[in-house]
Amino acid sequence: MTDRKTELAANLAKVEERITAACAAAGREREEVTLIVVTKTYPASDVRILSGLGVRHVAENRDQDAAPKAAACADLPLKWHFVGQLQTNKVRSVVGYADVVQSVDRARLVTALSREAVRAEREVGCLIQVALDAGVNGRGERGGVAPDGIEELADLVGEAPGLRLDGLMTVAPLTGEYAGREQKAFQRLMDLSTDLRRTHPAATMVSAGMSADLEQAVAAGATHVRVGTAVLGVRPRLG
Ligand SMILES: *Cc1c(COP(=O)(O)O)cnc(C)c1O
Repeated sequence: MTDRKTELAANLAKVEERITAACAAAGREREEVTLIVVTKTYPASDVRILSGLGVRHVAENRDQDAAPKAAACADLPLKWHFVGQLQTNKVRSVVGYADVVQSVDRARLVTALSREAVRAEREVGCLIQVALDAGVNGRGERGGVAPDGIEELADLVGEAPGLRLDGLMTVAPLTGEYAGREQKAFQRLMDLSTDLRRTHPAATMVSAGMSADLEQAVAAGATHVRVGTAVLGVRPRLG
């Protein structure tokens, strides 16, 4: 094995152990939680190694980096998740490779995604990104819609050609009532998911938890965790 492969395999094994332990502690089956490796800022060569090590879901947050990487890895059996704030002028590109867009947070974005999905003859999975720290404007610092905006967006996605409503996503807030209370934040997301599934029963994905708080997310009931640093290392630049 190359040094990088050895390093990634070891990191992946540690993350796998953490997820397994968190599932056991929560009385959940390991199969209930899917690991998504966030490969942002890391090269396509790392994605290729991860695929060889059995990773099946990767996530990116900037189209400029993600589009060439996805193209370089088009031969691999990977599902690509887009998790960053998404401008409508990038939607055409993102729809070209993303299987799931986890950061759907406004009606204009739903319209653009639907138009491009239809044009590309693709079905794109959508998660509504929930901002548990939304200000009075109903939006989060890092994207996301306030909880009271979920239903309207979910209905829009549900009716939009080319789109499939898969569930909810959140990032643990750094400010507001949930700051430093990750498990409470993730439990709130689970409650919102329960509400959503009354009207959209197929929207079962709950994407929560990153390197620092995946245990709390698994404990709360997350179905998908998004782990970057713990697998790939500390990122060379902000992203
Ligand atoms: C970068 C990122 C992650 C991964 O964060 P780590 O702390 O590196 O595990 C997860 N979710 C989103 C939305 C991200 O932007």
